[in-house]
Parts: sequence; C-alpha cells; structure tokens
Amino acid sequence: MLSVKDLHVSYGGIKALKGVSMEVNEGEIVTIIGANGAGKSTLLNTITGFLKPASGEVVFKGHPVGRNPAKIVKMGICHVPEGRLVFANLTVQDNLQLGAYLRNDRKQIAVDLERVYMLFPRLRERMKQIAGTLSGGEQQMLAMGRALMTNGELVLMDEPSLGLAPLLVKTVFEIIKEIKGLGKTILLVEQNAHKALAVADRAYVLEQGHIVKTGPAHEIAQDPAVRAAYLGTRSVVAG
Ligand code: ATP
Repeated sequence: MLSVKDLHVSYGGIKALKGVSMEVNEGEIVTIIGANGAGKSTLLNTITGFLKPASGEVVFKGHPVGRNPAKIVKMGICHVPEGRLVFANLTVQDNLQLGAYLRNDRKQIAVDLERVYMLFPRLRERMKQIAGTLSGGEQQMLAMGRALMTNGELVLMDEPSLGLAPLLVKTVFEIIKEIKGLGKTILLVEQNAHKALAVADRAYVLEQGHIVKTGPAHEIAQDPAVRAAYLGTRSVVAG
C-alpha cells in the first residue's frame, strides 16, 4: 500500500533521514520504533507532504504522493500528529467535522461520525465540550477520531501514547487494534516499543536516520540488541 524509497530529509545542515526505505502492506499494523530524535516524526511528516525530501520517493497504492498535504489526505492517507494538535477553541464535534473537511459524501460522513462515537463513547458524551478543556487522553482520542473522519485507508500515528497515564496508554493501544478491525492500515511511530511491538504485525527500527532492523514484530521484540536498547533491559543510546 505504501512504499517509501531511499528518503533523504534534512533540516538545514541536520540530516534527519539518511536513505530510509520501508513498506506498509494493506491491513497491517507496522510500527517504527526508535529513540528520541531518530527521525520518526520526520518520516511521517514527509509521507504526508509537510516536509520536502532532498531525494527519494513516497508511493501510495502505486502513485507517487507528491508534496500537497490536502491532496495526500484525499488519496487516503491520514495523520494523527504528535502532540494531538486538536483545534483547542472548537468543540469536539466541530473538530471531528473538520476531519471530513475535504469530503462531500454527506451521508457517509454521518455514518463515519457515528462510527467514531461508537469507538470513543467519551467523545460522544463530550461532543459539545471545547476541545482545549479535554484531558490529554481525551484529546488523543479526538485526534484519532478526527483522522478517521477523513475516511483515509492508511492511518499514520505519531506517538499516540506520549504523556498519557498507564491506564490510558493501555486504552490507546486497544483502540489501535479496534481501528485495524475497522479495516484500516496503520503506520505507528512509538517510543513505547514494548506496547508498539505487542500490537504490530511488523516493525522497523530507526536509529539516527537509518533503518537498522526490520522483521515481524514478535521477532524484533525478541532481538537481543532491541531488547537491550528499547525494551528496558538496560539503557543504551541509539546508534
Ligand atoms: P521525537 O520522539 O523526539 O519526536 P523523532 O524520532 O520523531 O523524535 P524527529 O523529530 O524526526 O525525531 O527528529 C529527527 C532529527 O531532526 C533530530 O536530530 C531533530 O533534532 C532534528 N529536527 C527535527 N525537527 C527539526 C526542526 N524543525 N529543525 C531542525 N532540526 C529538527
């Protein structure tokens, strides 16, 4: 479904991605694990057109995605950004409706809104509440719901568990599985390698702008170097 080919991305003199290639097949949850600053957000922001690569290509369902974020959303890729980035002054319902901004299939939008409220009953309870007054966990659910309202087939998620209490982290990962159950394909970027590898089908390990390992998630979770670096056996600096 998604193919990233030899992507190089820099911020001025800082090379954040140094030849990253990876793939996501339809129906999979693929996770990218890596330390702070490894380049995970840079990869997602390049896929969705917010950053321009120096070289390389992103292909979605056989078509190069180009560099226009709105067009990329229309193609079927949606993004749950790091830090949620909900519209703080708007209501929950307005945030969700904005997820459908590029759509004009009114009936299906109503069906999808109902589906989001089924998935996140808390959002239904708070549909009239101003988003900025929600808890961090609720804002994460809203950011996920807003992405689902685009009706994209591929959902990119950037650190959905960041800053959440352990119970909410568990809920977020359960919801990720439910989103897969809705027929979505998921590319999940996480520092919480333990949880990400438990939910994913396949994994890539990103270190300092390079993919250093890939394989089925359960195999990556057993890899001694990965266990040492990311699964808490001992603390190791990436690279
Ligand atoms: P985190 O989990 O901390 O978000 P990450 O794996 O998502 O980490 P990126 O945010 O993609 O990493 O950052 C990759 C590299 O690019 C880092 O060295 C970072 O300092 C640098 N970087 C990211 N954003 C910018 C920016 N706007 N300007 C300059 N350098 C940046």
